[in-house]
Amino acid sequence: MSEPALQLENVARRYKQGQGATLEVFREVNLALAGGELVALVGPSGAGKSSLLHMAGLLERPSEGEIYIGGAAASQLPDRERTRLRRDCIGFVYQAHHLLPEFSALENVIVPQRIAGRSRAEAEHEAERLLGLVGLNERLEHRPAQLSGGEQQRVALARAFINRPRILFCDEPTGNLDGDTAHAMVDLIFGLNRERGTTLVLVTHDLELARRTSRIIRLRNGTVLSDERT
Ligand code: ADP
Repeated sequence: MSEPALQLENVARRYKQGQGATLEVFREVNLALAGGELVALVGPSGAGKSSLLHMAGLLERPSEGEIYIGGAAASQLPDRERTRLRRDCIGFVYQAHHLLPEFSALENVIVPQRIAGRSRAEAEHEAERLLGLVGLNERLEHRPAQLSGGEQQRVALARAFINRPRILFCDEPTGNLDGDTAHAMVDLIFGLNRERGTTLVLVTHDLELARRTSRIIRLRNGTVLSDERT
């Protein structure tokens, strides 16, 4: 069997509080996600969904345990290596789009490719192609403020997919969108997941949306309460 795209092994996370106390957010979380898997991560507020995303996305280190990206242990790597791995293998889409306000839609999708070392011409070509795929070929030169919320989120989606990450983490990506726009956005995310074989982890409060994925992981109080295939 091939290596999981993402694996968490006995992961724990503690935060130091004042006066020597510690807050234990996670205990012994074990999860393995296969390449191309589409997973919903659900649980009440405070369950630890964001913390899990931050650790799995190499933004934070676990207090204990190991995180494997494509079979390679990543927890103890130096910061530079973790940054490189994150750049090459991992993408994020948040509820807020975090686009660069001074830059056009096209430039926002070009920038991460240039950082990854792609030529200007190639980056422009790819950005145009992906923005076309998310239905924005008429909006390439618009800055974020000149786009609707749904359009901004589609630019953020194109930017997240542009370097073909192995794993994409989406944290409530439709939280700010109205029903129809959210629906269209989800169709795009699922379509790109199928087309590109990206492993996708979707944090959502929307159980109907969670049921459209192939696996639902429920977190509560820092442990995996259930892990079921739909
Ligand atoms: P969720 O995303 O499911 O709402 P979080 O991952 O944001 O949950 O938080 C899980 C728990 O960890 C919460 O009780 C929160 O207060 C705590 N927590 C998160 N980040 C920190 C931090 N930097 N320092 C201390 N406690 C934190």
